[in-house]
Amino acid sequence: KISIFWFRRDLRLEDNTGLYYALEQEKNVLPLFIFDKNILDKLEDKEDARLSFIHSEVSKLSKQLQKSGSDILAKYGTPEEVYEELMETYDIQNIYTNRDYEPYAKERDNKIKSLVKSKKIQFLDFKDQVIFEKEEILNGSGEYYKVFTPYSKIWLDKFKKSKPQLLSIEDFKDNLFKTKPFSIPTLKEMGFEESDIKIPALEIDKPLIQKYDQTRNFPAINGTSRLGIHLRFGTISVRKLALEAAELNDTYLNELIWREFYMMILYHNPQVVDKAFKPQYDHIPWRNSEEDFQKWCDGKTGYPIVDAGMRELNTTGYMHNRVRMIVASFLTKHLLIDWRWGEAYFAKKLLDFELSSNNGGWQWAAGTGTDAQPYFRVFNPESQTGKFDKELKYIKKWVPEYGTNDYPKPMVDHKFARERAIETYKKALNS
Ligand code: FAD
Repeated sequence: KISIFWFRRDLRLEDNTGLYYALEQEKNVLPLFIFDKNILDKLEDKEDARLSFIHSEVSKLSKQLQKSGSDILAKYGTPEEVYEELMETYDIQNIYTNRDYEPYAKERDNKIKSLVKSKKIQFLDFKDQVIFEKEEILNGSGEYYKVFTPYSKIWLDKFKKSKPQLLSIEDFKDNLFKTKPFSIPTLKEMGFEESDIKIPALEIDKPLIQKYDQTRNFPAINGTSRLGIHLRFGTISVRKLALEAAELNDTYLNELIWREFYMMILYHNPQVVDKAFKPQYDHIPWRNSEEDFQKWCDGKTGYPIVDAGMRELNTTGYMHNRVRMIVASFLTKHLLIDWRWGEAYFAKKLLDFELSSNNGGWQWAAGTGTDAQPYFRVFNPESQTGKFDKELKYIKKWVPEYGTNDYPKPMVDHKFARERAIETYKKALNS
C-alpha cells in the first residue's frame, strides 16, 4: 500500500504542511506532480516562463528526493486521467495535498475527491499557502471582512499571539516511497519550449526588506523583494517569510496580509473572476477600443511612465507595483477599457500572476473592488512620475527614445480623459 502527496503550488520539501503530515502519518508516501493539461492547454505562449520555472523546480525536487532513495512521479495529463491510471497501478491508501482557493482548483479537487472515494481512498487537504484562510479572520458578527484595514488588524493580532511553527520532514524521510528514479516529461513532449526570461532569485534579502517601507515605491531602484513567483509556486514558505518580515519590516508584512486578504475575498466571492465586486460597476459602458488597447499593450501610449511599465512587463514578466497601479488606472480611466482586458493581459505576462491579487489589483484600480480607489480619483501619470521617478531613470531605462521625435504624442489628453472617465462612471452609477 502507498499514500500519495500531491504537489501543486507548494514546490518545496521544507515546511510543506501536507507533505509533513503525509510523512508523519503514512508509510510509502509517493510524491506526485501533474502537469495539468487543462491548464497547459490554455497557455498561449509556447515559451511560457512560468511553465519552464515549474519544470525546473520539479526537476530539483526530483534530485532532492532521489537522495533519499525516492523520487517525484511527474505526469502529463488531466488530473482525472492521472488518478484513474494511478488507481490501477497502485494500491492507494490516502491522498495528501495542500488547499488551493481558486475556483478551478476547488472544482478539480472536488472531482478527484469524489473519484477516489469510490475506491475508499481518503483525500486529505491542508492549509499551506496562507497563514489564515477561509473563515479564520471574521468580524464581531461572524462575517468575513470586505475592507482591508480591520481585516489586517485582526490578522496581525492573531499572528502575533500564535506564531506559526515551521515543519521539518528530516525525521520522517524513511517514510518516502522507495523507487528507482522516474523520468520527468520534457517541455518539448508537452508542446512547449524553454523560456529565456530570467526568474528572480529565491532569496530573503534582509537588508532590502528592512528598508522596504522607504524603497518600495520607486520603480528605478531595487526596492522590493521580487518573491512573487516564489510565493505563487510555493518555492518559499509563506510562514517562513512572514516570520522574517515580522522581525524586519511591518510594511512588508502588511503586503503579505494584502495577499491573504485578496485570497480570502476570492474564496468567498468566486464571481469576482468575471464580475465587479460592487455589482453596480458592471453598468459602466466601456469604450473597449481594440486599437487603444493594442497601444497600451505595446507601451506606445505616449505617456512615458505607462509605456515604461508595459515594456518592463513585456520584456521581463515583471512590473513594479507602483507602475502596475498607474498602467491599470490609465487603461480603465483614461482609455475606458474594461478592467477584465487588462487583467487578462497581466495574467498572460506576469511571472508572479496570482488570480486573487491580480483581480484585486485591477478592481482596485478600476474602482470596482473592495477597498477601491474612488472613481473620481484618477491617477495623473505626470504627477506620479514627479513623485516616484523624478529623475526619469525608470522611464529612460525602458523608453530610451523618450524626448526624441520617435516617441509618440500622448494618445489622449489627460484633462479630457479624466473628465470623461468621471462623467462616465457617475452616469453609470446613477443609472
Ligand atoms: P514585494 O513588494 O516585495 O511584496 C512581497 C509580496 O507581498 C509580493 O510578492 C506579493 O506576494 C505580496 N504583495 C505585495 N503587494 C501586494 C498587493 N498589492 N496585493 C497582494 N499581494 C501583494 N501580485 C501578485 O502576486 N500577482 C498578481 O498577479 C498581481 N497583479 C497585480 C495587478 C495590479 C493591477 C496591481 C495594482 C497589483 C498586482 N499585484 C499582484 C500586487 C503587487 O503589485 C505585486 O505583488 C508585487 O509588485 C510583486 O513584486 P514583489 O514580489 O517584488 O513584491
